[in-house]
Amino acid sequence: MSLDPIILTQDLLKCPSVTPHEAGTMAIVSEFLTKLGFTVERFDSGAVSNLYARNGSASPHLCFVGHTDVVPTGELSAWTKNPYAAEIFDQKLYGRGVVDMKGAIGAYLAAIGRYLQTKPSLKGSLSILLTSDEEGPAVDGIRYVVERFKERGEKIDACLIGEPTNTTSVGDTIKIGRRGSLNATITVNGKAGHVAYPHLAKNPIPYLLNYLHSLLLIPLDTGMGYFDSSHLEVTSLDVGNPTTNVIPMQASAKFNIRFNPLHSFQSLTEYLHDKARLANLNQEGVNYTLKIGGSGDAFICEDKALQNLVLESVSKITGCVPVLSTSGGTSDGRFLKDICSVIEFGLTNTTAHQIDEHIKVDEIHRLSAVYQHIIEQFFV
Ligand SMILES: [Zn+2]
Repeated sequence: MSLDPIILTQDLLKCPSVTPHEAGTMAIVSEFLTKLGFTVERFDSGAVSNLYARNGSASPHLCFVGHTDVVPTGELSAWTKNPYAAEIFDQKLYGRGVVDMKGAIGAYLAAIGRYLQTKPSLKGSLSILLTSDEEGPAVDGIRYVVERFKERGEKIDACLIGEPTNTTSVGDTIKIGRRGSLNATITVNGKAGHVAYPHLAKNPIPYLLNYLHSLLLIPLDTGMGYFDSSHLEVTSLDVGNPTTNVIPMQASAKFNIRFNPLHSFQSLTEYLHDKARLANLNQEGVNYTLKIGGSGDAFICEDKALQNLVLESVSKITGCVPVLSTSGGTSDGRFLKDICSVIEFGLTNTTAHQIDEHIKVDEIHRLSAVYQHIIEQFFV
């Protein structure tokens, strides 16, 4: 059994596991962990595969979380390397998902393998939780497993997520939280009519523009702690009117809000309806609908001991002083935060989701060393 993180990563890269397919990745992980004494369970739901492997039954319990699914290759002819051949050129390992995040899974598997060789009896529990649905809808993935964990009272103290967190090299950034994300579609309904007789119609466009203007005029906040200011971005304006002489009946817009813990889904929903009332979107001849969706509230890791443990491990192994950050998109941490402390550290994200996704071989080794140090310190 190889404990080389590069070979482990290459084995995973050769599986074309585009969401929600696991394409053989779960069997690779399962076989590896079974040999190390882990009990492997599957929590599959719909087309999504979820694997949970645990070694030990006592506290403290450290869980590594990741996903084996990858985004599609995009235009294949644009790749200069085969995205599923896992080849190394110039000390760089190429492949779809190497950065996000099969390289981190390989690094972690090798780290626990090395650790358990030296310390076969654990002073707590080590586990690994993997899904094949992080890049997709994320409904049947970690969210589903967290619900099952709540039902059976599975106790986890800390989760380490292997998403690519660094911006230039392994060691520069640890994610200690994430902003929340809310998507909204506002549709304003008026009354269609002839442009020459506007008094007989009710044009919804000025009402929609007025509403959006009121949202953009005043910033939501100026930031807090480790969080940047919350931000609203309008992403689409849709009227779909092919004519120039007809006042349309309907106008809609889409926008996204990335928000810090000064806001919640609930408070922002109320805010958006308040603004609609102030913009007179509900009056004689005019009304609106507001559809809200998104991926969860903001959160931050309040567990200072875990934060320090990861910070010290990263500093010691990489020689860097990492920035503690909450920037970037969402991750499965949004579901796990309900049952345990969550922190994220992985590879460098420069080529994630890109054509010719790749990472320096060296970086996977360094990440694996960081993970091993975190495990050692966690069970001291
Ligand atoms: Zn990812």
